[in-house]
Amino acid sequence: MINERMEEAFNKQINEELFSAYLYLSMSGYFESENLRGLAHWIKVQAYEELYHAMKFFTHIVERGGTIKLQPIAEPKHKWTSPREAFFESLQHEKYITKCIDDLYNLAYQEKDNVAKNLLSWFAQEQVEEENSVTEIVAKLKMIGEQSSLVLMLDSQLSSRKTKVDVLNASGSWDT
Ligand code: MG
Repeated sequence: MINERMEEAFNKQINEELFSAYLYLSMSGYFESENLRGLAHWIKVQAYEELYHAMKFFTHIVERGGTIKLQPIAEPKHKWTSPREAFFESLQHEKYITKCIDDLYNLAYQEKDNVAKNLLSWFAQEQVEEENSVTEIVAKLKMIGEQSSLVLMLDSQLSSRKTKVDVLNASGSWDT
């Protein structure tokens, strides 16, 4: 059975993951308003994966006899000055999430909760991938600058991202 401290911390992390989904969905709306449908699609897939992250914590709490206690989700911002700024903020946000996962891992270690540590190892690895993929897009947008033909090329490239997660069953894998 999950102990109270881990239960509270994981409930809080569900909120962080749902906020991530909300933030990325908001960014997707911003890209749509700029007619950048590929960027909008890519970040919408990201929002879906954040829901999956939330469900992984949800399932973990439930399976270990804990109580789900959801909190309100904060309002994300809805306007950015450029795609580069939006993706840069998503990178900053992922770095913050990586810190949350590290803190949770340290807590699980303190609480001698090996099952939680197992789950958090998966998340720690996942964060490496999240940061890498966003770093790459930020770097490309930086190189591209104001050259609209290259922005359109990137937009087209990002339009083919597929999701490999099953949110309802909190299962999946992705190597994209
Ligand atoms: Mg996440």
